[in-house]
Amino acid sequence: MSEILRREIKYVGGVGEVRARLLEREVGVRTIGDLLARYPYRYIDRTRTFRISEIDESMETTYVRLRCRVVGKSFTGEGAKRRFMVEVTDPTGSAELVWFQGIKWVEKRIELNREYMVFGRPSIFKGRVSLVHPEIEPIEQVLSRKEESGFQGIYSTTEKLSTAIPLKAMHTIVQNAWRIVESDPTAYRDPLPQDLRLRNGLMSLREAVYNIHFPQSAEQLRQARYRLKYDELLGVQLTIQARRTDRQKRGGGFIFPRVGEAFNTFFKEKLPFALTGAQQRVIKEIRADMISGKQMNRLLQGDVGSGKTMVAFMSMLLAVDNGFQACIMAPTEILARQHYASMMRFAEGLPNVRIAILTGSSKTKERRTALEGIASGEVDILVGTHALIEDGVQFSNLGYVVIDEQHRFGVEQRAKLWTKNQQPPHILVMTATPIPRTLAMTLYGDLEVSVIDELPPGRQPIRTYHYYDSLRLKMFGFLRNEIAKGRQVYVVYPLIKESEKMDYKDLEDGYESLSRDFPLPKYRITVCHGKMRPEDKDAAMAQFKRGEADILVATSVIEVVDVPNATVMVIESAERFGLSQLHQLRGRVGRGGNQSYCILMSGEKLSKDGRARLEAMCATNDGFELSELDLKLRGAGDIHGTQQSGDAFELNIANLATDTQIMELTRNDAIAILNSDPRLEQPAHAQLRELRDKHTKRERIDFSDIS
Ligand code: ADP
Ligand code: MG
Repeated sequence: MSEILRREIKYVGGVGEVRARLLEREVGVRTIGDLLARYPYRYIDRTRTFRISEIDESMETTYVRLRCRVVGKSFTGEGAKRRFMVEVTDPTGSAELVWFQGIKWVEKRIELNREYMVFGRPSIFKGRVSLVHPEIEPIEQVLSRKEESGFQGIYSTTEKLSTAIPLKAMHTIVQNAWRIVESDPTAYRDPLPQDLRLRNGLMSLREAVYNIHFPQSAEQLRQARYRLKYDELLGVQLTIQARRTDRQKRGGGFIFPRVGEAFNTFFKEKLPFALTGAQQRVIKEIRADMISGKQMNRLLQGDVGSGKTMVAFMSMLLAVDNGFQACIMAPTEILARQHYASMMRFAEGLPNVRIAILTGSSKTKERRTALEGIASGEVDILVGTHALIEDGVQFSNLGYVVIDEQHRFGVEQRAKLWTKNQQPPHILVMTATPIPRTLAMTLYGDLEVSVIDELPPGRQPIRTYHYYDSLRLKMFGFLRNEIAKGRQVYVVYPLIKESEKMDYKDLEDGYESLSRDFPLPKYRITVCHGKMRPEDKDAAMAQFKRGEADILVATSVIEVVDVPNATVMVIESAERFGLSQLHQLRGRVGRGGNQSYCILMSGEKLSKDGRARLEAMCATNDGFELSELDLKLRGAGDIHGTQQSGDAFELNIANLATDTQIMELTRNDAIAILNSDPRLEQPAHAQLRELRDKHTKRERIDFSDIS
């Protein structure tokens, strides 16, 4: 990196010691390079001057520039309500400027009959245009000044920082920083080989950095953004594609050649239903990996209720048939217990398949059975939670690991599973939060993906409705009808860490009101939430599962067991849930043969995104479609929380969700570059190496090994 970019920010005109300290503390900017790496997130177009008559409601959120004459000044109101008002006109109409603060100072600087350039956000009230706290400057001053650009960048800031360095001052500082950089030809030297740059018609890096801060035109801004995104995504792809080739070369997976007694007996005699075509296909895909000689690293995506557990179980039998152990790791105690129960049922009467469970709350005996059995080889399948990855858990011969609901596990947790045998076991990661295919391919270029895209037969699509809270009585009526038919109902309340107390109050209030409207002995309601003792929770769930309660009131943290007789999922304050969570909750019903329903309750006031989520839920049952939309609404980093894409790559301007076209392009370019120079060792690629490292966070473990 050029020396100049490493220079401390305090030497830039307009900064100084105090502001420098604040910049570092508030936004982590220490050097000139740091400063220029913060791109504006928005621009104000100062190239255009509006007429007052052109302003309408649609412009209330944008900044406009008006050229007008001051025709009146006045103070109104008393005390805290005191305001300074200025009446301005241009040839098309008049408008009002309003100040609440610093009004004496402003008043002194504004002269009657003088022409000004006014800049601010308009609002319209009763047909009258007004601007609150606009920028205002005498027209001669504006015309005489040479601006770096007609677009003024707006930089993200913090409350403290914006007081110390207001918008305009920040703009000046960036300008001064750029002047220093400009004098050094080594700053922002282009990392891309010339031919690559020309072939893709990319603007030079230096031009791009200049134009991102000081766009010379809308077109040049577009090109600058494109170029900077290209660099970031190329950096990402150079990492991903290199890992992919590494993994392909490494090979070295256990080979499970036999389809033996356990699998065959189960398949021919015990299988409780016919497998769907998708389940069969996925089992075949897994089997092909298991005999390939390469270590399997496969992501299984399948919507809620698509039958992933059966795929996990049958593929585990393949490991057992070949003398290996298998384990399945679930994200919660309840899910682990549920898996254990179904697998014990499946394995009943199967020769030589012994199953144990290990969770954080396993009692001494259970723990000992699991640990000893797994170490001696007596146990073939271990079911559990993250307790499985603790150091004390020693397998005698672990060959296959299934991870359920992967989005809850961190990369590091999964990496630990690797160390459980000399040679890494095969890995299957199952998720019900499908990542759209394009993203999976580009992001996890080194991971094979299987999809269960078919639900077991006889499932009727769940009908989803959105009710405002005012229609609560109608919803109650609906519940009564279903309960009269002998069906059961879930009522779920949101639980968010920050407002836990209030959330529990909501749940308690809701429970109380339900108890009033659904009185005993006709109706039986049970409640289940995270604050209850585990025994009480389990008892409540078991009661519901046995059909001894009609309504289960629960918080969203509760994993609900499989209850085919439950046909209604009511989600309270549905607008507070994320799309994938809503879809997950909905998947708790519709598991039996009866028509099932999901009712989304919300207040009248909805944000734009909140409304979009509820509408999407009503429009489709397709998890893939929903996750595509989720990706658009939230951005890719968020989809996997802080665990995956979100923290694996440092992206400043590129967006994994929306920049798919550039992503594809960089993917192909990265593959071509790596074909000629796998480790980027050629001198011409030195800067590409830098680019790669810059956008990929260093992680303690190499996550190419896991996913
Ligand atoms: P998920 O993919 O959400 O983990 P599960 O594995 O829990 O789904 O399966 C949901 C329900 O569907 C379970 O009750 C399971 O027994 C049942 N099921 C799975 N596969 C089939 C099938 N091929 N035919 C009928 N029911 C099935
Ligand atoms: Mg499941």
